[in-house]
Amino acid sequence: MAADAGATVLETNDDNPKTPDKSKTKFDVVIIGAGPSGYTAGIYCSRAGYDTLILSGILPGGQLVNTTEVENYPGFENGIMGPDLMIDMRKQSQRMGTTIIDDEVVNVDFRRTPFKVLTASEEYEARAVIIATGANPRKLGLEGEQTFGGKGVSYCATCDGPFFRNQEIVVVGGGDSAIEEATFLTKFATTVHLIHRRSELRASKVMQERALNNNKIKFHWDSAVTDIKGNQKMQQVVIKNLKTGEETTLDAGGLFVAIGHEPNTKLFKSQIELDDEGYVVLKNKTHTNIEGVFAAGDVHDRSYRQAITAAGFGCMAAIDVDKYLTESADKQ
Ligand code: NAP
Repeated sequence: MAADAGATVLETNDDNPKTPDKSKTKFDVVIIGAGPSGYTAGIYCSRAGYDTLILSGILPGGQLVNTTEVENYPGFENGIMGPDLMIDMRKQSQRMGTTIIDDEVVNVDFRRTPFKVLTASEEYEARAVIIATGANPRKLGLEGEQTFGGKGVSYCATCDGPFFRNQEIVVVGGGDSAIEEATFLTKFATTVHLIHRRSELRASKVMQERALNNNKIKFHWDSAVTDIKGNQKMQQVVIKNLKTGEETTLDAGGLFVAIGHEPNTKLFKSQIELDDEGYVVLKNKTHTNIEGVFAAGDVHDRSYRQAITAAGFGCMAAIDVDKYLTESADKQ
């Protein structure tokens, strides 16, 4: 189940054929982030012959590290555990020659080439940079989200909906994501309970109407989830009416939190163009507004947010880097 289960440290067991040379600081390509997009970009850049560094952060692996079973990543007939998938991607990238250092980037300087990417202890130089820092789903801030992450609590209906066939499901949020997820989940649920903190949805009119006319969705207006209960798995959700203060307990197998995402872009705020919600703005394919700086995955993608699409974007960014570096070399 692709659900956030809290901070899991990726046991990488590196048998890296290319032991990182810690004294090396100049690379053709530096990739910031080590989720599906970062690792895929590493595979493609290294295989194309570029000296490539991935700075993975201190918890490499991205959102899939906080996941149990992944059923929808192609190539795994019987599914694969999220952390195992990320370890395999990491090793594949290393086998192609990518240097991976599990350190956090604290600053960047994209004002001139070579670009500078800084950790607390080192300054790296790159002819091209791929930003693959991902996004995190917003949380409700309840203790039960941690306790029942991967055991009923999820942040991705496409990933986890099929685990909840013939069960009652709760969805929190009133935007397009929540409405889209609630509608999708009616394929599996006996009833979908949509919990929204106001009496009016934020979602687009078309999507609202579709959901309001769907008799499998029950709306709980002016309400909030205040507690998540269960034993081995989540079993109940406590809903509070914010106007009356009345609390009700719903029996439910799944809770989908769909209250928005936060792209991990604070680091790049003054360096590249971001939209009003902090997502990287792409100018052409995977190019940002800075020539030589590219972005891949959830850090710019607010629509698909799947491991397979993130991996696809990583591949695209690497191909765009190859074209950019080839053309820059031709100019010299
Ligand atoms: P969003 O538009 O920011 O909506 C977030 C929803 O969650 C809002 O209804 C908000 O309530 C509620 N919320 C926020 N924090 C909360 C909290 N702590 N507790 C309870 N509720 C909370 O996010 P989104 O739905 O993920 O959409 C993000 C963007 O992607 C939007 O631009 C959207 O149009 C787009 N999108 C488009 C599609 C599509 O077109 N198919 C699908 C998905 C997303 P309030 O309304 O009271 O603020």
